[in-house]
Parts: sequence; C-alpha cells; structure tokens
Amino acid sequence: MIYFDNAATTAPYKEALGTYITVSEKYFYNTASIHQSGKDAAKLLEAARAQILDLMGLKTYDLVFTASATESNNIAIQSMLRRKKQFGSTILTSELEHPSIVNVLEAMKKDGFTVKYINTNEDGTVNLDHLKSLLDSDVVFVTVMALNNIIGSIQPIEEIIRMLKDYPKVHFHVDATQAIGKTDLNYNGVDTISISAHKFNGVKGIGGLFIRDLATMRPIQYGGGHEYNVRSGTVNLPGAVSMSKALRLTLGEAREVKERLSQFNEKIRTAVQDLEFIYLQPKAASYIVNMSFIGAKGEVVVNALSKRGIAVSTTSACASKLATLNETLLALNNEDKIIEGSIRISMGRHTTEDDVNKLITALREVYEELGDVLK
Ligand code: PLP
Repeated sequence: MIYFDNAATTAPYKEALGTYITVSEKYFYNTASIHQSGKDAAKLLEAARAQILDLMGLKTYDLVFTASATESNNIAIQSMLRRKKQFGSTILTSELEHPSIVNVLEAMKKDGFTVKYINTNEDGTVNLDHLKSLLDSDVVFVTVMALNNIIGSIQPIEEIIRMLKDYPKVHFHVDATQAIGKTDLNYNGVDTISISAHKFNGVKGIGGLFIRDLATMRPIQYGGGHEYNVRSGTVNLPGAVSMSKALRLTLGEAREVKERLSQFNEKIRTAVQDLEFIYLQPKAASYIVNMSFIGAKGEVVVNALSKRGIAVSTTSACASKLATLNETLLALNNEDKIIEGSIRISMGRHTTEDDVNKLITALREVYEELGDVLK
C-alpha cells in the first residue's frame, strides 16, 4: 500500500521504535518509585522532558506527558475552565478545530459556558479583525489550532499572542498536533500547547501538554499526583523518551522534507487541475492536498484508490455542531457537493516521487472510471 494518510498517523522512525524497546527493557521501573532503579528512570524522564522543552524553544515552560493530543486538549480546556468560571464564561475558538477541541467545548456549554466561533478567511485562516471584535470582558479562553488537519491552513498564532497581551485574563490554548515539523511557529506566549508523537513519526500512546504557568492548572482526573498533579497515572517513560527522539529527528529534517513535499504538492495539483470536475482547496501546508471529485462521494474515491494500492482519507464527516458535513470545508463556504466528494491526500517523510507518480496515474484512472457520476 502506498501511504498518503500521514495526517491521520505516521510510521515511526526506526530510532524512535528502538528507543521505545530499549527503555522498556532497561528502564521498566516506575518513575515514582524511590529505590535507585526508580530514581534512574525518573532521571531519564526529566532528561527527555528537558530535551523536548529545549527543542520546542519553550525552556521556561513545563511539560506534562499525556497519552495523546486528545487528552492534552481535554486537560487544557477542562482544567482551565473550571478555574476560570469566576472570571467570565465566554470561550472563543476557530471554526476549524478538531473534535478533541470542539466536542469538549460543546460539553462545557452544559456547565454554563458560551462558545463563540471566529470567522474564517478564504484561505482557511482565522479572521483576526473578527477575533478582535469578539474579545470582551467576559472572554476567559481562546483556542485556535496551529495547523488544520483537513486542508493544512496555518494559523497566525504569533499575531494572536500579540493581540491577547492586552487581555491578561484570557487563557490561550493552541492545538499544535499537526504542526510539529511542518511550521516554524514560535509558541512563546501561548498558555498551553498540545502535541502527539504519532503525528511526527513517533510511537502511539504518548503526547504532551506544554504549560506556561503550572500554578494555574487543576487536575481533571485524580490519582497519585504524577506529572505535577496535572495528569495522574504511571508515566509512559519509554513513550516519553521515544517522543524526544522523534521530535529531534523530525525537526532536524523538517526543512528538507517540507521542500520536497512542496514540490510533490505542486506536481499533484498540476496533474489534476485540467480535469473539469476536480476542485482543489487552496494550497497551505506542503504535506496536504485536499481535492474534491465533484458529483462523487469521497468514500467511493477512497475505495477506488485503495483497490489500486493507494491509501488516502475521506475528509471525514464527523459528528459535529454544524452538520454531518465536514466543518472545516463548511467554514470555507464550500458547496455540499464539494464537501461530499472531498478526499485528503497527506504526504510524509517517506513519500517518494515514484509514489506521487503512481498516485497521479491512479487519480486520473479513477476520474475516468467515475465517468458520468462526475458533474
Ligand atoms: N488535533 C488535531 C489537529 C489532530 O489532527 C488530531 C488527530 O487527528 C488530534 C488533535 C488528536 O490526536 P491524538 O490522536 O493524539 O489524540
């Protein structure tokens, strides 16, 4: 199978897997144990934590290890809002967020919070003027993802940091899950930031939440008080050490990979742009191409490509606040038929020119095969 679904998950680096296995064998101890082996494990954990903070340019932050970005997003939102309720009840967010943000915010509404959505520009970025107009004295929380998982738009995080400097009561959270190794964003000034190793060629089951001021966090699950009492539960040491390795490797090759994938992105776009019933979403992050086979269903296209040995993704219809159609594409004012026929092609560090050529041949074959369905 030729893999073009790297926004869903990535193949781990051999080194990240090797580290996971070695640490599992040699340091299987509990980092909370006070005997020497436990202390050695804890030392390794702190080294991994320090390395990740350093690599992210967030040395003054704390890092809490979690199991996934979903968990990191939940902790950031639920923990903060519990504390902030006394200060106000309005939350601002983009219309492009992942369900691990949207559905948590929807749940927070039941606790009396109001969620307001920031308008989206044509290129998939948030409208900063609209954000500014929404910032009143009741706003306590703003959450905007760094890089969108459906079309790859990159948000103006640094501008939002500057804007929010005038609103000290507001907590700013960024879901950076898709952005690691894909952008040069500087997160200094963001209050909490989520990441997940399996999106940058690390292993599954380990993520992180960067926290600017630990004193502001409240646990959402109670237990032994691990991870600064923010996330109780025995720490996944092999995952943490392996994540630091994957992060170092990803950032080390980021520029070269981005340039290569940008060329592939252009090549795919050029190859289909003359086809009458194909619609291309605007180009954003180099690794994602989102296109629609107008008149067809995305899943039919995905299956037809799958039969040809190519794995892409539908632009999934997730249960959402708006409809069963994809929210990101709705926010961009796409017609229903464009949303229904949409597929996401997401490349990664392993993607080769040969893979891209095979994908292009298959896309054109499927287009021919669909024939009159397309209109
Ligand atoms: N946020 C974004 C933008 C994502 O793309 C994803 C995964 O698809 C997540 C959060 C959830 O990540 P995880 O699988 O680590 O829970």
